[in-house]
Amino acid sequence: MQLEIKPFLSCKVLIVDDEAVSRLLLSSILDPYVDCITASSGAEAIDVCKSTDPDLILLDMNMPDMDGLSVCRILKADENTANIPVMFVTSTIDVEIENDCWEVGACDFVMKPVTASTLVHRIKNHLQSKLRTELLERMTFHDQLTGLYNRLYLSNEIPLLIKQVARDNGAIGVVMLDIDYFKLFNDHYGHVQGDSCLQQVAQAIAENVKRPKDAAIRYGGEEFMVVLPYTDNVGVEKVALDIQASLAKKNIDHYAGIDNKVTLSAGYAVMEATAIRESGIVTLIEAADTQLFSSKENGRNQVNG
Ligand code: GH3
Ligand code: MG
Ligand code: MG
Repeated sequence: MQLEIKPFLSCKVLIVDDEAVSRLLLSSILDPYVDCITASSGAEAIDVCKSTDPDLILLDMNMPDMDGLSVCRILKADENTANIPVMFVTSTIDVEIENDCWEVGACDFVMKPVTASTLVHRIKNHLQSKLRTELLERMTFHDQLTGLYNRLYLSNEIPLLIKQVARDNGAIGVVMLDIDYFKLFNDHYGHVQGDSCLQQVAQAIAENVKRPKDAAIRYGGEEFMVVLPYTDNVGVEKVALDIQASLAKKNIDHYAGIDNKVTLSAGYAVMEATAIRESGIVTLIEAADTQLFSSKENGRNQVNG
């Protein structure tokens, strides 16, 4: 997992201003430090945010079609853009406008004409706290070795997901996966090779867990869990089989494995989210675990559900 904070030069700062001269001025101040992109209206800014996910937005307060405050409100109401820091650039300021800025969720504001060095320093400060927060979030919810989500993610985030899927009357599928004969692999090849094998297995899983709300979790040492919202039995089984196929392609030797390769056994189960809300996610996990146990009992390297 990437544990470094990316350099400022690769941070994207979106400059939104209806006046070309202002855009040019702000870009020329910031260009030596960050990666500047521009938009000339509020509507364009919202589009750009969706397509490029900037690290910070420098937003003109007064624009003809949609003013900065409205743009900020829209961005803060959308979970995909809510965490992008917004700094207002304004030529008029009074207590009321200042309050408006904070209330719509801005992180800061600067006055026109801007003082170049102050603008640069403020932007660097806000970028730094955003990047540090993101890093902490990544470390909190991800497993260090594989980069997949960890158990804390499961206990904190999955209940929220269940609530949301229940509101839509959807179902949630869970696949439990366990590496076959992994103790023998470790004992024979050593823990360094064992760790590298775990990373490759995690990669095979991640390659097949693609939708935004799907989650691949390292559940225990060599056990993994995949959570697939809005997915029926056929879809869940397909993901499990695809994961096995991706792992087979990686072609990892195992002296004691099936056909002398590293393989995975899997078990899956699907439940309506409303039922999960009543009985708890444990019921679904246990159902998938029972199927995993059958896969192990029936010869490993297979999927049961
Ligand atoms: P089965 O086919 O029945 O699943 O057998 P198994 O040997 O895979 O299962 P068992 O639960 O007996 O052994 C799991 C092994 O996984 C024990 C340990 O050697 C290994 N392991 C667990 N966590 C880690 C880890 O973080 N790194 C490494 N290298 N090995 C780990
Ligand atoms: Mg195992
Ligand atoms: Mg195990």
